[in-house]
Formats: sequence, C-alpha cells, structure tokens
Amino acid sequence: MIPLAAILSLMAATPPRHASENAALAMAAISAERCAADVETLAAFGTRHTLSDTDSPTRGIGAARRWIKSQFEAIAATSNGRMTASFETFEIPPGPRVPAGATIVNVVAVLRGVMPEAAGRACYVVGHYDSRNGEPLDASGDAPGANDNASGTAVVLECARVLALLPTDATIVFLATAGEEQGLLGARAHAEVVAAERRWTINGVLNNDIVGDPYGWSTAPDPADRSSIRVFSEGLPRNPSAQRLSELRAIGAENDSTSRQLARFVAEIAAVEKTGIRPRITYRHDRFLRGGDHSCFNDAGFSAVRFTAPKEDYNRQHQDVRVETAPDGSTITFGDLPRFVNPEYLADVARLNAAVLVHLANAPSAPADVRVITAQLENPTTLRWSPSPEPDVAGYEIVWRETTSPTWDHARDVGTTTEAVVELSKDDWFFGVRAYDRDGYRSPVSFAGAATR
Ligand SMILES: [Zn+2]
Repeated sequence: MIPLAAILSLMAATPPRHASENAALAMAAISAERCAADVETLAAFGTRHTLSDTDSPTRGIGAARRWIKSQFEAIAATSNGRMTASFETFEIPPGPRVPAGATIVNVVAVLRGVMPEAAGRACYVVGHYDSRNGEPLDASGDAPGANDNASGTAVVLECARVLALLPTDATIVFLATAGEEQGLLGARAHAEVVAAERRWTINGVLNNDIVGDPYGWSTAPDPADRSSIRVFSEGLPRNPSAQRLSELRAIGAENDSTSRQLARFVAEIAAVEKTGIRPRITYRHDRFLRGGDHSCFNDAGFSAVRFTAPKEDYNRQHQDVRVETAPDGSTITFGDLPRFVNPEYLADVARLNAAVLVHLANAPSAPADVRVITAQLENPTTLRWSPSPEPDVAGYEIVWRETTSPTWDHARDVGTTTEAVVELSKDDWFFGVRAYDRDGYRSPVSFAGAATR
C-alpha cells in the first residue's frame, strides 16, 4: 500500500490531471485501519449523547467533539492553508428531546475551492457524531454508537484526510453534526444559517448515517450486501407551493428533483470509477417514515442524499449495551459496539464518498434554466439552457431516458452550444443537460422544465 503522505504529495504536485486519476488517488489513499481506529476512538468516549458531559476529558460529547476538532486541525495543517476547522454553536430552545433546551455544537472543516468562479459553491460530506441508547433522554448511560454513527463520522474524517491536498475548483465542507438523535438539531441549524446568510451555494450533500455494517440482521451474510449501499433521495420537495406542484405534475417531474439527480450522479461515478460499493438508488427521501440530517438540507432548498447500509440491525441500534438469553438458550448481544463494524466495508463507503466529492467539487455547475421550448406543438424536442460560469467548461451533453427508466441511459455531446434539437418526442422521453470540462469532469444533470423561449 502506498503511504498516505506519498499519495497526498502526488495529489498536490502536478494538477490538473484527468478526473479519474484524481479519484483513483483519493480512493487509494483511504485506509480501513484509520476508519476502524476512528470508530474505536469515538465509541470509547462511552456516550456521545447530545446532553451528556461536556467537561470530562475522556467521557461524553464534549470530549468527543474536541477530539474531532483536533483531527480536523491536524488535517488542516497539511492543506497548504486551504482548510479551516471550527466549532459551530447553536442555542436550541426546549423541545420534546431537549426538555431544557440545549447547546448544540457541530464540528466543521471547510476546504476552500481554488477556482474563483466555483469557490462560492460547496459540496458536503456529513455524519452525525452524537449517539443514544434505548432511552432517548439518557445522557449518562453507555451509548457507544459505533455504527450509528461513529461510522459516518469516520467517513467524514477520512475524506478530509485524503482530500486536504487535492486542489478542487469548488469548496468542500466536512461536517460532523450533533443533536441528530434529538431531532436533527445540528444539521437543521447549520442548513438554515447557510441559506439565510447565503454563505455559499450548496450543490450536493452526502449524508453518511449507519454505514459500517453491510450484513446487519441477516443470518447468512449475502456477498451482494457487502458491495452495496442504499442511497435515499427525495422525489418531491417537502413543501412545494401549489403552483410548483402543479408545474411538476404537468411535466411528470415527480422523479426528477435535484436530490434525485444527485443520487443518479453518485451511481454514475460509482460505475465510472469502479468503486467497491455500488449505490442502490432508493426512491424515498429516507427509510419508511424516518428522517436524517440530509432532510434538513432538503428543507432549506439544497440537494442532499443519505447513505445507509443495506440491513440495519435493530438489536444494535438505539439499544442499551447488554446480553440477553433467548428462549432457545442462545445469547443475544444488544448495543452498537465497534466489533459489529466492518472496517473494509466502511473504507469502501469512504472511497465512494471521496470519488463523488472529487467529481462534484471539480465539475462545472449543472447548467441553469434547462428547458424544453414549447412555443409551438412539434415532434422534435428543442432544448435551451444557460451556460455554466466556470472558465474550463468544454461543452454540454444532452441526456435522455424512457419515462420508466431510473437512469439517464442516452447521452449526446453537443459541444459548447446552449441549444440543441433532438429528434424525439418530449411526450415519450425525459430530457436533461449536463456540463463537462476539459479534465473529464461532468456536472450532475439539470432536468429540463418547460418555457416558451
Ligand atoms: Zn444515525
């Protein structure tokens, strides 16, 4: 295995390289040993409950967040001044799972983009670092939270380690949130503040939550689970206006939110970069009736998806650590312990995240105002769009698919134009446009709406 330092200096040394060379370097730099060590360290804080001790140097959420920040600071020291690490504090009023209110502290590292036209755009990798046991308000009992969600936090840390020296056009934000188990408090506060301040445009959030154990509840481990992860994305925005809903209905865009395009983008990058884990696109914003930190970014108007392992084991999730004897005499271990996390699987999830971040942070913006021209009834489909602002844009691709297909199955390179005609009926196909640059990066697809010109 090539040492991390050698790969990092290679990354910093000779840019620009082709997209897949950068993605391969980032993936090669990821270490299962470091991911496992992060999970062990986080679990060893005993509990990371949002309302737990903040003063102890060894136990509770305070010690955990100081350790995460120290990791980000050590990584930032390797970033040639591009990365900053900080705490982000919010005072939350009393609520169902914070009866006396709470101080929520997220840990954030920001890796600034190097292209002026793109640095105001940010993509995110997110994991909540808080944990809980069987009782949502138990702030002192053990809650090791290894899979939920030291695993996601380890993905965030490891992506920061391997990307710190890669020059990227856009900004990357590495975010470890608190208060997820108490009602998505840290992520919601962060997303709302970024939207209100217009701090930057968020063009993709990868939320990693429960990503360390591929087999979960299965009694006979299925090799297919070892190479798969679920990717949840919303199909419709949560609170569309009546007019917006009517527009989406009129063109059949129930399956084409920007978050769904991000999920398709993730699947495409996985195929191009031959990642060890293949995304299973799931047509739901989250698991049945459930939610996660990405939902807060969705609510604030940003595209965001959730990664979760194939088979969650509820004996290990939100459970007090204990051993019970089953009626047949066998013993069952309850609790979210590090030994149930698979380091190689977790590292493969980190590799998928890193590959997507390399592409997303270097690709041009997805074209704006992509539209099917409806000035008159005609069979061919005319598409128009606005050019992406980055100076390295080398052209655009029209993509299309059958209305029943989950993925963009057809693409045509149309060069640097901002208009194209396809000899296919808009009644029978969905259309979109993406931008590409000279280094082989492609943007996510912008779905085509409708306009008269
Ligand atoms: Zn979780």
